[in-house]
Amino acid sequence: MDDEENYALERDRMVEEQLRGRDITDGRVLAVMRQVPRHRFVRPVDLHLAYADCPLPIGHGQTISQPYIVALMTQLLEPNPDDTVLEIGTGSGYQAAILAQLVGQVISVERIPELAAQTRLLLARLGVTNVEVQEGDGTQGCADRAPFAGIVVTAGAPRVPEPLRQQLAEGGRLVLPVGSRDGQMLERWTRCGEDLQRERIAPVAFVPLIGEQGWSEAAAAGEGWRFSP
Ligand code: SAH
Repeated sequence: MDDEENYALERDRMVEEQLRGRDITDGRVLAVMRQVPRHRFVRPVDLHLAYADCPLPIGHGQTISQPYIVALMTQLLEPNPDDTVLEIGTGSGYQAAILAQLVGQVISVERIPELAAQTRLLLARLGVTNVEVQEGDGTQGCADRAPFAGIVVTAGAPRVPEPLRQQLAEGGRLVLPVGSRDGQMLERWTRCGEDLQRERIAPVAFVPLIGEQGWSEAAAAGEGWRFSP
């Protein structure tokens, strides 16, 4: 058996045990999680852990999320084939690659230039053509491509960034972790006219969302407390 066949078996097992064994029930999400090669999105030293039930480091102090969390956020977005979806926090590109199989177009914003460049290259190599990786502060959203049927934030926010709220289409879903630096609640906000309705989903722990409408770099690093008088 070659490596790719082995990875395919590991993916099948991941889907059965970590996703279907929990509360991932959307057949399209399960199918895509079975297809996308997560091992291409992790560092070579972590290849043996590519399908394990945990997040993994991707450099620059950032992480690729646990497979279950990626599946859960995707399911909560309720993606449709014609949707344009905005992701904040491209990171490894794994969540973007999953979404790319389920919607028409993904715009993904990453603040670390090296990660944006590296991931753009990887997605091209994998033949993913409907993800546009933009470099910048995703807390501002992407006004010139709005409104979005779905917005997913894959870093922990202190509060819902106002621009993202505004860029959500009627009936659109905004899925994001909100809370402190150390722990957040995964929330889904759905637009109904002028109102946004909130559902609280599950406690999670993400790296901080850093930007104008997120944490300052100093607060994210914990320096705000160390240097307070
Ligand atoms: N979705 C990613 C998870 C990456 S971790 C994956 O599947 O691998 C979160 C990412 O959010 C990091 O790469 C971090 O640099 C990025 N990030 C944090 N604040 C951001 C902001 N304001 N705008 C864009 N990206 C941000």
